[in-house]
Amino acid sequence: MSQAAAPPAAALAEVEARVLDVVRTLAEELGGARAAGAVTAAASLEREVGLGSLERVELLLRLENAFGRALDDGVLQADTPGALARLIAAGGAVEGPARPARAERIEAATVAQAAATVHESLWRRGQSQPARPHVYLRRDDGGEETITYGALLSEAAAVAGGLREGGLRRGETVALMLPTGREFLAAFQGILMAGGLPVPIYPPARLDRLEEYAQRQSAILADAEVRALVDDMFETMYKAPGVGLAAIQIGVAQRIVTVDTAKKDEPKQPQVFINPEIVWTSEEKNTYEEGCLSIPEYYEEVERPSEVKVRFMDLQGKAQEVAAEGLLATVLQHEIDHINGVLFIDHISKLKRDRVIKKFAKAAKREAE
Ligand SMILES: [Zn+2]
Repeated sequence: MSQAAAPPAAALAEVEARVLDVVRTLAEELGGARAAGAVTAAASLEREVGLGSLERVELLLRLENAFGRALDDGVLQADTPGALARLIAAGGAVEGPARPARAERIEAATVAQAAATVHESLWRRGQSQPARPHVYLRRDDGGEETITYGALLSEAAAVAGGLREGGLRRGETVALMLPTGREFLAAFQGILMAGGLPVPIYPPARLDRLEEYAQRQSAILADAEVRALVDDMFETMYKAPGVGLAAIQIGVAQRIVTVDTAKKDEPKQPQVFINPEIVWTSEEKNTYEEGCLSIPEYYEEVERPSEVKVRFMDLQGKAQEVAAEGLLATVLQHEIDHINGVLFIDHISKLKRDRVIKKFAKAAKREAE
């Protein structure tokens, strides 16, 4: 649920200006002022700007950060900044009003932020001082191996390209079962570069326990993914600003809701509801003016039960039940609706609903033009 008006969707010209900005910065890091000067909306990224397939992976990551949402890998095929901008703008328009909240996503997520920093430092050093040693590895035979920033960056980029081609989604966990060595480092960095979440796991001591072991590991992976998702959701929600968010609003089909009903001058009270379910509603009703991050700049009074009981699982996997009233009751009902594919405008009169749908259809059309 939103607290204030969310920013309107960016128009194509604005998208193109931002794409050009990102491409220019990357081109300058790679090839200096001359490469940056070659960047125009119609310039070929491959031939004129000199971005090869590995640099395109980096470009995709930066565009995702700039636009705050996951981009389809089809974007890797576009060869000019203009084509990139059209794909990105069209992606936004096709999604329609269901997911505009993604525009403010990812870049501020706690986990993603740490990843961006690690990745960014490797990227900068790898470009500016490729011969500088990054790691000295002691080999089993007693010798020493030196890995430079440049070598690690190109090995990581190869891993990232492979993961992207394999369909890795942003924020998805990747299990790493490798001895600590060159391959481990390249894979770890490559996963970060591709927008994934590396989770190092260790082989089982006893091979006859492999099945039990595999189950435990997959639980660890799922857990890491949920935590990263929840971090991402809180960042999106606070930035909007909003008081509640359902995972589906940032394009993740999981039954997870984040809520914080604390007032501006109060300390934050982040709450996570996994698989929430309304188990009781009061006869008494309450009316709130609701807004939604998925339907920016539209507010309408909605009547709902004033009290609810909600059963859910917490982040520790423990079953919980909460009796909610006031704003919390409204927010929980609004967000649990999202999980079930219901929007708050489904609770208002048909006349008002048709009006808001028409308004969004017009905005989407304008953006596509
Ligand atoms: Zn909503």
